Amino acid sequence: MSTTTQILSSIPVDALTGAISVPIYQTATFVQEAPGVNKGYDYSRSGNPTRAALEEVLAGLEGGATGLAFASGLAAIDTVLKLLKSGDEILAVDDIYGGAYRLFTHVYEKFGIHIRYIDTSDVVLVQRSITPATRLIWLESPTNPTLKVSDIKAIASLAKAHGAWLCVDNTFTSPVLQKPLALGADIVVHSATKYLGGHSDLIAGAIVAKDPELGARLKFLQNAAGNVLGPFDSWLVLRGLETLPLRVRQQSQSAWAIAQYLETHEAVAAVYYPGLTSHPNHELASRQQKGFGGVISFRLKQDDQQSATAFLKTLHLFHLAESLGGVKSLCCLPCEMTHKSVPREKRLLTGVTDGFIRLSVGIEETEDLIADLEQAFERLAGNGIEAGIPEHLLATA
Ligand SMILES: *Cc1c(COP(=O)(O)O)cnc(C)c1O
Repeated sequence: MSTTTQILSSIPVDALTGAISVPIYQTATFVQEAPGVNKGYDYSRSGNPTRAALEEVLAGLEGGATGLAFASGLAAIDTVLKLLKSGDEILAVDDIYGGAYRLFTHVYEKFGIHIRYIDTSDVVLVQRSITPATRLIWLESPTNPTLKVSDIKAIASLAKAHGAWLCVDNTFTSPVLQKPLALGADIVVHSATKYLGGHSDLIAGAIVAKDPELGARLKFLQNAAGNVLGPFDSWLVLRGLETLPLRVRQQSQSAWAIAQYLETHEAVAAVYYPGLTSHPNHELASRQQKGFGGVISFRLKQDDQQSATAFLKTLHLFHLAESLGGVKSLCCLPCEMTHKSVPREKRLLTGVTDGFIRLSVGIEETEDLIADLEQAFERLAGNGIEAGIPEHLLATA
């Protein structure tokens, strides 16, 4: 397989002008010399040269036959589900991205597609849960926000033995850290909004299929429903990809240092990061991934929403926002933000308590990020004393 550097440097220089940056072909249609005689493009829903350049790089990075670029991560996921028909069954990771849960359960169930959510980090449970109707196994590894890791290679061979496809949402690791197709998966999807784009300035998605025949079916579905990425956003993702290995390396390095800092902090009850030896799937993650990524979750000892909110509001470098994978560090409170639609009891079962915080580490200096967290912990300790003052006294203050 080509290295990331080789793939990125294989983007052709513009033949007409020598432009080193891929031109943005901001056009809907392409003039034909005679009916049906064209230069490979006829209409930008079916194909656009800027999008095609991106799609080729995506295929190369994930090591698949076909790459496709979509208007969002969910548009990519939606296209994979259109491979199924009524009566088919999906086995999906229980800690699945909320938007995917909404699409599977609230849109596709009513078309007769049955979805079961299970703990896919338990391979034996996956094996026991497969039925003759299982057509698709859906993994995220690591998951959001508890960073649970599933054995892609083992599950891929189970899928193969039962004639089901394995699709891996590779958003959290990016192809720099994990290559699901090489581990046996059939399809990879991405929210390119996150690490691939990398700058929190666009919404985009991607599919890469290992096999050209499956790739052609997905391309047909993309064109049939029209979920394409526009030329300008395709160009932005292409530009983002040029720095992907550099960004991910820095983010992983900082995240690892921050996870270790958090693990020894007296105000922290638990840290979720696959790079820590305390993580239940650390050994598998070390085998399956080239690094542990830029997302860390942790729970405060003061495990309530008021303390967590106070903590988040005092951070300066970590901006309070949904999303992840950008150059700027972000923080969020899943119970009120990304996972608000998950019922509280279900959320608590997976460990996502009211004082559970998720960080997306950016490319700022590691020491600055740790210093930012440290000052927020110091202020939280101060708030703790304040919170101890009886309410009637605070009211008169
Ligand atoms: C954000 C995200 C998605 C959805 O992608 P959009 O670009 O927001 O549509 C899907 N999967 C994961 C793991 C995500 O983090």
